[in-house]
Amino acid sequence: NAAAGTVRQLDPRITASRKLSFLAYECASEIGVDLHSDIHVFLQDIGFPSGVLLNRICKDIQEVEMFHAQTTKIRDSLDFWVDGVVVNVNSIADFRTVGFVGKAPRGAVAYKYPAEQATTIVEDIGIQIGRTGVLTPVAHLRSVQVAGTTVSRATLHNEDEIKRLGLKIGDTVIVEKAGDIIPDVVGVLPSLRTGKEKKFHMPTHCPMCNSKVVKKPGEVNWYCANAKCFAIQQEQLEHFVSKAGFDIEGLGPKILEQLRAADLVKAPADLFILTREDLEPLERFAEKSADNLLQAIREKKTIAFHRFIYALGIRHVGEQTARALADHFGSIKRLLAATQEELQAVPDIGDVVAQSLHAYFRSTDGEQQVSSLLSHITHITHNKSTQQKEGRLIGKTVVVTGTLKHYSRDEAKEAIRAAGGKWSSSVSKKTHYVVAGADSGSKEKKARDVGVQIINEATFEQLLGKTKNS
Ligand SMILES: [Zn+2]
Repeated sequence: NAAAGTVRQLDPRITASRKLSFLAYECASEIGVDLHSDIHVFLQDIGFPSGVLLNRICKDIQEVEMFHAQTTKIRDSLDFWVDGVVVNVNSIADFRTVGFVGKAPRGAVAYKYPAEQATTIVEDIGIQIGRTGVLTPVAHLRSVQVAGTTVSRATLHNEDEIKRLGLKIGDTVIVEKAGDIIPDVVGVLPSLRTGKEKKFHMPTHCPMCNSKVVKKPGEVNWYCANAKCFAIQQEQLEHFVSKAGFDIEGLGPKILEQLRAADLVKAPADLFILTREDLEPLERFAEKSADNLLQAIREKKTIAFHRFIYALGIRHVGEQTARALADHFGSIKRLLAATQEELQAVPDIGDVVAQSLHAYFRSTDGEQQVSSLLSHITHITHNKSTQQKEGRLIGKTVVVTGTLKHYSRDEAKEAIRAAGGKWSSSVSKKTHYVVAGADSGSKEKKARDVGVQIINEATFEQLLGKTKNS
């Protein structure tokens, strides 16, 4: 990944700064030799490093075995990482005769070294919830280097596997990495026990949603009985990082799923404790992307109050409500202390929303989520929404549909707010204006049906009291 990313750099100065070396092993043009080994010699002669000193011509399979065994011993002294040798038919004619399987030549076979192992301590065993609701135990390891990467997690597959290994929390274990992203625990070293190790028990209730866990007949896996468990967690995380929430760049649904699959992130607060060591072993995370993501997350340790409220994903609390709450209470401390009556007294907040907010802040889950987030957030900022007293949209609810020429959706929202109006995504009898842009569809029809005034972009700009660029 690092090599491919380096070669793909658009700026050759960056590529040059990376200290990437290259060993040639094949020549695309016909150069009139009969042996593959001569290609290496030729490449070396015309100035390409081709690793001739590392190559060996073997007469038979025993010599191949010997070479493989010898290189196993010297591999750690090489200044690059190798995971095996390639056994190549030396006669170019024979190589062609034996042909290909798919894209892979039969005449060149990778002969890999055994997977690398290391010993470390299982500090804890966590539970990860898969898309199908399956609960997978994951070992949280004291960080250790295996096969060139830092390893801090290993899958334990299921409860039976833990029993088979005889694994306890606190045990010293052998971890093995065989090309997979998440390494395996392949053995326990009971002779190193101190007596403080703890037996692991599968939870009886889902650590995510607290539903009962069940076992299907004939299966080794435990499942969360709540069919939507995975989706709920994913949705919560996607909502948290969304544009109106923490707006974390580069953290889309796929990356979130990947972080969950590696048991790195369960709840939003976990994002703030990610490290480069966590990310780098993951696919797509080589190169700068790990640092970029960590930087994007770090930047959001200072967050606007209304974004913080919105990101919590409290039922019935959208962007508009979050802003109203931020304006009214001004600080998280005052919001958390608010009674239901005080919440109801906030302009634009009805009984249902007030009830939902109050229930959330008083629930164990809500309290825990807020306090764990607050332990990572360094600063919550608040600028009271600017509300023009003279604005011609004061007290008016506006829906925008279709594409406007001069405003993106977010710009239109902001402009409506700045003019004292309220933006809404759906048309109802309470809507005052529907601004219809190009290709407006069902919302315009709905507006006609319920008798809401439909205006075009020019009229909208007049209502705002200005054109965007003036
Ligand atoms: Zn669950």
